[in-house]
Amino acid sequence: MKYYSLNNKEYKSSFHEAVHEGLAPDSGLYFPESINPLSPSLFEKIEELTYPEIAYKAIEQFIVPEIPETDLRQIINETLSFDFPLVPIEKNIYSLELFHGPTMAFKDVGARFMSRCLKYFNKTKSKKSTVLVATSGDTGGAVANGFLGTENVEVVILYPKGKVSDFQERQLTTLGQNIKAIALNGSFDDCQAIVKKAFLDSDLKNKNLTSANSINLARWLPQMFYFFFAYKELKKFNKPIIISCPSGNFGNICSGILAKRLGLPISQFVASTNANDTVPRFLVKGHYDPKQTLATISNAMDVSNPSNFIRIQELYNHDLKAFAEDFSSYSFTDDETKKVMKDVYGKENNYIMDPHGAVAYLGLKKKIAEYPESIGVFLETAHPLKFEETVNEVLNVNIELSEEVKSIFEKEKTMTICSNYEEVKQFLLM
Ligand SMILES: *Cc1c(COP(=O)(O)O)cnc(C)c1O
Repeated sequence: MKYYSLNNKEYKSSFHEAVHEGLAPDSGLYFPESINPLSPSLFEKIEELTYPEIAYKAIEQFIVPEIPETDLRQIINETLSFDFPLVPIEKNIYSLELFHGPTMAFKDVGARFMSRCLKYFNKTKSKKSTVLVATSGDTGGAVANGFLGTENVEVVILYPKGKVSDFQERQLTTLGQNIKAIALNGSFDDCQAIVKKAFLDSDLKNKNLTSANSINLARWLPQMFYFFFAYKELKKFNKPIIISCPSGNFGNICSGILAKRLGLPISQFVASTNANDTVPRFLVKGHYDPKQTLATISNAMDVSNPSNFIRIQELYNHDLKAFAEDFSSYSFTDDETKKVMKDVYGKENNYIMDPHGAVAYLGLKKKIAEYPESIGVFLETAHPLKFEETVNEVLNVNIELSEEVKSIFEKEKTMTICSNYEEVKQFLLM
């Protein structure tokens, strides 16, 4: 399979090149040249298949033979070595919990998959690469964990000093081995600007820098697995399925739409956002007008210019009418989010949603009111513990830390503090 740049369809790369480059040289996102629907028999007998078997069938056409079947199966097995429970919350509403991986956020699947793909490619080419990633919190932890101990790969994580939670900082700075952290005196946007500059810096060419954000194919494609897993569990009810994703960079929901193009019977998608409402406004007004990013309690979604939205538009052939058939996007305030966290916790299951899952729940409830004969799923993308302060404050609870989680508070944080691009560059050249 070849992948073209969304800035120029004539420019094409292999999966291998695209994973190494992250973005095409013209800064376009990579997109698969063809999307071939899967055999209907897969969906007919999906209940009999294991998650790794389903995942292999879903992603095979995009990667084999560049990574041969046996190796790809192994990458998938290692990536999916934890649970994806679908938890009933109330009548016809389920939470798909994507936080049972090592860093307790859904990004673990993409990060683990990508790290293993890079490891595979570096094995055959014996090339060393450096993954440089800017993070506002969750991405850094998932990437660090996914790449820990990976041979020939060094990971450098850039985070804004003092602007991530203590827990998130520990996830970035306590691993050691091939993982290095830089605390930047600046904002997340400054971190991103430095990463972009480094990619263009010819002095750093021989470092083989690559990105690990969701623009990278190897992080984006495996996210479609979740949607297949939800279908496997819900098929028996024989009802239309609505899925709501808490959306920031729109990578997760974009992979759900890709799954639908492969034949997965999802009837409606809801992209639920916090106050950063560029896409909901776009669907109403028809023009794309990002505003200043607002800080919210669902901070992993504080994005005003979602980088994957261009891929979504491509999946709908840039046709607003086509969007209207099965895609909606709604925005919710922090007050609405807190209120619904309380309401759901107050029901018989006492279910604790993190602020991101709560935004997705709100979008789902809005949509399912239009289609009451459906079954609804919201993606719970982070463990409530990751947003412990908000959750404890809103629900007046004290979430218990597990022994495994407690151990992170005993380790020492190690990071280098930098104040500008030159200092980061010197660090990379060391
Ligand atoms: C990254 C993240 C999101 C947003 O996912 P996108 O694919 O960027 O839309 C939602 N929730 C949590 C907890 C996240 O870490």
